Parts: sequence; C-alpha cells; structure tokens
Amino acid sequence: MLVFKFGGASVKDADAVKNVAAILQRYKRQKVIVVISAMGKTTNALEQLSKAFFYKKEDPHGILEAIKKYHFDIVEQLFPDKTHPFYNELENTFVELLWAIEDEPTHGFNHEYDQIVSMGELISTKIVSAYLNFAGIANEWVDSRGVIQTDNTYREGKIDFELTQSLVTNDLLPKFNSSDILITQGFLGGTSENFTTTLGREGSDYTAAVLAYCAGAESVTIWKDVPGVLNADPKWFDNTVKINELTYQDAIELTYYGATVIHPKTIKPLQNKNIPLYVRSFLKPEEEGTVVKDSKKKLPIASFIFKVNQVLISIQPKDFSFIAEDNMSAIFQVFFRHGVKIHMMQLSAINFSLCTDNDEEKIAGVLKELQDEYRVLYNEDVELCTIRYYDQSTIDRVSINKQVLLEQKSRYTAQLVLKSL
Ligand code: ASP
Ligand code: MG
Repeated sequence: MLVFKFGGASVKDADAVKNVAAILQRYKRQKVIVVISAMGKTTNALEQLSKAFFYKKEDPHGILEAIKKYHFDIVEQLFPDKTHPFYNELENTFVELLWAIEDEPTHGFNHEYDQIVSMGELISTKIVSAYLNFAGIANEWVDSRGVIQTDNTYREGKIDFELTQSLVTNDLLPKFNSSDILITQGFLGGTSENFTTTLGREGSDYTAAVLAYCAGAESVTIWKDVPGVLNADPKWFDNTVKINELTYQDAIELTYYGATVIHPKTIKPLQNKNIPLYVRSFLKPEEEGTVVKDSKKKLPIASFIFKVNQVLISIQPKDFSFIAEDNMSAIFQVFFRHGVKIHMMQLSAINFSLCTDNDEEKIAGVLKELQDEYRVLYNEDVELCTIRYYDQSTIDRVSINKQVLLEQKSRYTAQLVLKSL
C-alpha cells in the first residue's frame, strides 16, 4: 500500500486535476491513500476570510465569492455537463461555508480559523474524488477528521497517535476491501468533541507521513513541481543540483534549517518505521526524483538554505552582569511566550545574539518585555544562510557582496547571518 501526497500546486486548475488522474492511472491495481491539499492558494484566501469574519475589518462575502468562483471555474472545466449532480453537492458545501461566516464567532480566533480554513481541503478532495469517479478511476472519499485525531490546540493540533492508529486499523484500512484508491485531506484533524483542527501551515506532508506510519505503508510519495530535493531553492540560487538519495538525518536537518521542500515534521514518523519517502515531479512522473531513506550515503554536495527577512537581535544586561543560565531561561521564556522561533544563537559574556524571522508585531512584544533589564539592539534586513557539508569555497560563494555579521560552524553545518553591502 502506497501513500501519495498532492500539494496545492498539483491541483491548482482543471489541467492539474486531470494530471493527478493520469498519475493515478499509472498505479492501477495498487492500493493508494491519496492525501490532497487545498487548491492553489486557497488556504491563504481562507485565512483572509477567517480574519474578515472574526475581526470584522473587511466584508467576508466578497472573499467568499472569489473562492467560490475559483472552484466553480475548475469544476466547469472538469464536468462540462452542468446537470452533473456534483454541482449541487459543491453548492451545498459553499452554503455551509456561508452559514459559518454569518453566525457570530463563538470561540477564540484559532478555533474559528480552523473551522473555516479546513474547507479548502474538504472542497479540493471532493472535486478530485468526483472527477476521478467521472473519469473511470473508482475511489472513495474519506473524511480525515474521523481518522487523524488531535487535542484541541487549534491551528497546531497535536496528534493522538494511539487513537489515530486504532482508527486507521479499524476504519480506514478496511475501506480497501471495496476500493483501491482512498482520497483524503491533508492538514486536518478532528477532536474528541468533533471540532476540526489543522496541523499547522503546510501540514499535508505530515498527514501523509502519519497515515503511512499508522497504516504501515510501503512508501510515501510527495508529488511536487520540482524534480526532487535540490541542493538549494532555485528561487535564490542558479545551477541547483538534484539530490538522488538523502538520509533521514540529512533530510531532517535540512528541513529544520528551513528547506521548504518537505515539512519538517514529516521525517520522524517515516524514520521511526523505516518507510522511504519519495519526492517526485508531478510534471514528469516517469522520472525518479529523490528518495529519503535509511542509508549510509552522505550528501554528495553542499546544500544551501536561505531564510530572508530575518532580524539579528543582540541582548545585553544593562548592569553589565553575565548572561547565565538564570537570565537565559527568562529570555527564552519571553521568546516562547510571543511565539518567536530562534533560528540561530550565540552567547558571549555579556551579549546574547540571536536570529529570528522579522515578524514586526511579535518582535515588538519581545522587545517591550526585555527592554527594562536589557539593552536590546537589532539589525533588520539580514538573511540567514545555512550550509550543510560546507567548505571555505561554499562560504565564500554565499558571502560575495555581503557582510558576515555572525558565523557559526559545527562539523557538518555552517550558519551565517549576512547583510548586503
Ligand atoms: N493547504 C495547507 C496550507 O497551504 C496545507 C498544505 O498545503 O500542506 O498550508
Ligand atoms: Mg501547500
């Protein structure tokens, strides 16, 4: 049994949906769990909708109309016959969404967000499932909220593995008795009170890994618009090279430092059950892509990960006392409370430097709390470059025309905070 994950770009329009059908045709007579994200940039649009609904700064109806039109345009190309019953079904789904935004919010923002944003995946999977059936590829639509069980940490649901495992074994897998293809949503979970949760942005990869773990799948394949895992993001780098084989260890390090090709939480469940992960192109499904597995092969070349729009914060006690364990833990608490993730840090006697995303609102909150006791300086518009398997030439390559504000090296990894000259 295989697990496939198709992200937003792979279902962004009618041709893309047809392409998904063509890929599934290549796996006839195999059992496949297909995990699908919201179409194109729908999650961003639904995020905007949830804010408009909750904070009432903008009329949500216009946003909803645009989302509806985008999906119906796709459906019209997939089902030329307007009397096809799916039109009605989708219309009803949008009525539900309309009702959701016409009620007054009754819970906190994160809760309301999940009830609204989850519609993206529910809609995309309904469209793909209906189209596959129409195209002669029999499948069953599965509501993943009845399988992936989480606590009620809205927007960042924590999976209850025991419960999820028993639902996969007792409810999900038996569906293969009547259907070879199960279509389900990425990113979503359900709570014990039957509310919807989401697993954190870009969380569909993680769904695929969790289902593969619980179902004991042979492998997971993430179908992407790139040929596999590259040694750098082509957005920032010319002459990228595809990596054919990657160890779980290297994959988890690269994603931890910010490689966006795979969601960082995806690797652990797969490594724990030794399930290989393939990253392949949905545009060239005949090509091999990258395999992430238990192997002894170290990365053949240096990999580069860039995080732009960073801020370098430097914290110094006003009374010239040392930065030690006691004030360190207080400082970390402040960052934790404001949800600011530290990407790199360095400590000296009376100076603690760290690099984070430049999220103005959150940083302002942090600064406000620290400023009584510490002198806090910061340097905006910096970028953080991480090089795995670095050498001097790769460091030189990324620091051309850049000032190196901070540099840190371990055996395999170098990190540089850079500012353009
Ligand atoms: N649709 C969700 C998002 O855009 C989940 C995913 O695509 O992985 O964050
Ligand atoms: Mg996505």
